[in-house]
Amino acid sequence: MKLLFLGSGGSMGIPVIGCSCATCRSSDPKNQRLRPSVLITEGTKKLLVDIGPDYRTQALKYGIDTLEGLLLTHTHYDHIAGLDELRIYTFRQKKPIPCLLSRETHDELKVRYHYFMPKDEVHDPKLQFSFLEKDLGTTTFEGIEVSYFSYSQVGMKVSGFRFKNCAYVTDIMEYEETVFDSLKGLDILILSGRRWEKSIAHLSIDEGIAFAQKAGAKKTYFTHISHEIDHEKTSEELPEGFFLAYDGLEITL
Ligand SMILES: [Zn+2]
Ligand SMILES: [Zn+2]
Repeated sequence: MKLLFLGSGGSMGIPVIGCSCATCRSSDPKNQRLRPSVLITEGTKKLLVDIGPDYRTQALKYGIDTLEGLLLTHTHYDHIAGLDELRIYTFRQKKPIPCLLSRETHDELKVRYHYFMPKDEVHDPKLQFSFLEKDLGTTTFEGIEVSYFSYSQVGMKVSGFRFKNCAYVTDIMEYEETVFDSLKGLDILILSGRRWEKSIAHLSIDEGIAFAQKAGAKKTYFTHISHEIDHEKTSEELPEGFFLAYDGLEITL
């Protein structure tokens, strides 16, 4: 099983529109970050975690010609704005794309993407939903075992996912101690960490380091990174076992 970072940037992507900071002007490809999303590949099967506004670019760049399923963490713009790009797969594969998500995420999606819903009378259904029925548990989605757990970001419920010994924990801000039960024995933790300074919706890098150490992950990759972080400089400053993800980074699970 492989995990590919399609995007490692924060909600604005990098370069940020109109920004002339050193990171946004950098020629280092690791400082150019599309909106956050990962692709899980098992054999020929491809599952996408989140589908942000850069998805078309990402799909063309990494040759994602087929897609077996979509997992959604939550419904903020940077995680779902590429949903319309699924149409090409439903046309070509001639069936709706299976989608795994929480009831809360589904309720919000109904408002934002009413025309994607199965009972829409005008359009064909684009998504076929499977629900995370509890706050944490394990399920099988398109033949792949996925554990899930919940936390929140400024009042919105967010789902985290675990594939084998790797967990994808993005947009985490408030959480219960029980979240650590779902993260035991991790080889790889992927965690959102926007910048060193505190912010209202994301853990800082320091808070992320403390979180990861408590989880006991062997390796931690930060994603959802802002333009306040230069890849090379920050990589040198991180403690052992901590890394910055970058677009195109592939990890074997
Ligand atoms: Zn900038
Ligand atoms: Zn986000």
